[in-house]
This record gives sequence, C-alpha cells and structure tokens, in this order.
Amino acid sequence: MTTWDKLLVTLMCHLFNVCGLIHHFQLDMVKLHRFLGMVQEDYHSQNPYHNAVHAADVTQAMYCYLKEPKLAEQLSPLDVFLGLMAAAAHDVDHPGVNQPFLIKTRHHLASLYQNTSVLESHHWRSTVGMLRESGLLSHLPAAMSQDMEQQLGSLILATDISRQNEFLLTFREHLDNQDLDLQLASHRHFMLQIALKCADICNPCRVWELSKQWSERVCEEFYRQGDLEKKFDLEVSPLCNQQADSVPAIQIGFISYIVEPLFEEWHRFTEPSLLSQAMMGHLHKNKAHWSHLRYTHTNSDTQAHSNSEEAEPEGRDGEEGDIP
Ligand SMILES: [Zn+2]
Repeated sequence: MTTWDKLLVTLMCHLFNVCGLIHHFQLDMVKLHRFLGMVQEDYHSQNPYHNAVHAADVTQAMYCYLKEPKLAEQLSPLDVFLGLMAAAAHDVDHPGVNQPFLIKTRHHLASLYQNTSVLESHHWRSTVGMLRESGLLSHLPAAMSQDMEQQLGSLILATDISRQNEFLLTFREHLDNQDLDLQLASHRHFMLQIALKCADICNPCRVWELSKQWSERVCEEFYRQGDLEKKFDLEVSPLCNQQADSVPAIQIGFISYIVEPLFEEWHRFTEPSLLSQAMMGHLHKNKAHWSHLRYTHTNSDTQAHSNSEEAEPEGRDGEEGDIP
C-alpha cells in the first residue's frame, strides 16, 4: 500500500461532487465508493506507466478539458459523467504490454477480442462488469444504463492509438468546415472522444519535470516488454529495445507524429484558451528539450563507440507503439 492507494477514489468523488453528478444522478455513496475502489484496485501498481496514477492524471486533465468554455456551456450532466468515468477506467487492468505482444503470445484476451482493440475492449468490458457488480446504476431505467455502458465503450475504444488518424482527420474536417454543432448529442460525443484522447496523451503538454517522469515511465514499460520478448525468443517490438530505442528518440517521434497534430487541432477548437496556449508552450519546450538530449546522447554515444556501426536511433512514427 502506498499513499496513492485511494487516489482515484478520492479524485473521482471530489470531481463528481464539484460537478453535481452525485445529486443529479441520485448516486448511492456506498455503491460509488465500491465501484471506484474496484476500478482503483484493478489497475496494476507494478506497471511503471499504466497504473492508477496514470488514470488519475488522465481524469484530472479530462476535467480541465471539459471545463473549456467552448465545451462546458454545451455539455449535459450525462456527458460530464461519461467523460470522467471513461477517463478513470480507460486503462483498467492493463497488463503492461501492448496488443502485438498479446497477439504473438496467444493471450486469451487477443482471441476473445479477435485481435482488434484488444486492450481497449478489455478495459471497457471490465468497467461494465464492475458497474453491474457494484449496482451503481441499478436505480436507473434499464435503457438508460445500457446506453451509458455503450457510450463508455465508444469513449474507451477511441483511446486505441491505431485509430488516431481516423479521429484526427474527422476532427480537422469539422474545424475546417466549422460544422460542429454541440447541440447535437452525436457531436458532443465526438468531442468527448477527442477530449479523452487528448487527456490520454497530454503528458508532453505538462511542465518538463512532470512530463519527463511520465516519459521515462512509459519507456521503462516498453523496455520491460522488450526484455520479456528477448527472454521468450520473440522478435522485440518497435520502441521496446533499450539498446536501440532511446527515451529522447521515442519521445520526439511520439510528440511529432501523435501529440502535436492532435493538440494543434484541440488548440484551434478551444481558442482563445489560456490552458491550450500554456499546453502548446510546454509541448514545444519539451520537444526542444528532448532534441537537445538526443543530440548530446548521440554525441557521447558516438565518442564512446566511434568504431561502432550502430546507427543513431531514429524517431519512429510512434504509431506502432501503444503509448497511452
Ligand atoms: Zn491511458
């Protein structure tokens, strides 16, 4: 047990209170605590990255994004409820390895979900299981709780990084055409998906000291997977080879190909927003910081192994990895 052991429960109860959700949905506090306790416990504290602190971090970011004036004015209590729930539960029971690993080791989850959004489907189905077991929504009409479960699924499944381009292009198109109508439930749902995707990958938009720790943690998780793959004589997955994939190289690829394109559009959507402006500032500074570190890393590497044929680790496009 650590000081983090009730972090997610405390944060969620606080946010639910602040947003008036307990009153609005007439939630039973005992059931709410039971549900959140189960979610918190199902995160693996031994994962360097995909643990309950990441869930709390994403939930905190999600709350801030839902407060953006452009969005906040239009959101219903149901939207806010689903947004926060999806953020808190989006990585629950994450095994600390990515989908390609589950597929090549013939993990039962890969066959259960037919090699498609394996982890995200598992996070969603686990959440639904805990919702039903806790009875948190049992006082609501069946049609309503079913709709909530489906919407949670659609939000959590949107965090699958392999679907990044699909969401980015649709978002960009809406902004170009200026045709987002947040009176429409379907458009609000789309914006919840985008907000959750942003929250999930917002680490590089935080101050350097914090951002750096998350970067090191996610790479540590990749390297652990790489070590497992070596141990079982499997091909080492992209970004998982500690000798070839340096933290700065991984981060520069991740920022350039995944984080920056999405946050540029988010910035355009929220404008004028001080928060988005600050996040873009951090993002650019952090990227420059990693570039500098990669340069010094490569230089000292070259000096140390001047005869080595080892090439400079290239920034991969990041899409092959499963960063969030
Ligand atoms: Zn995540």
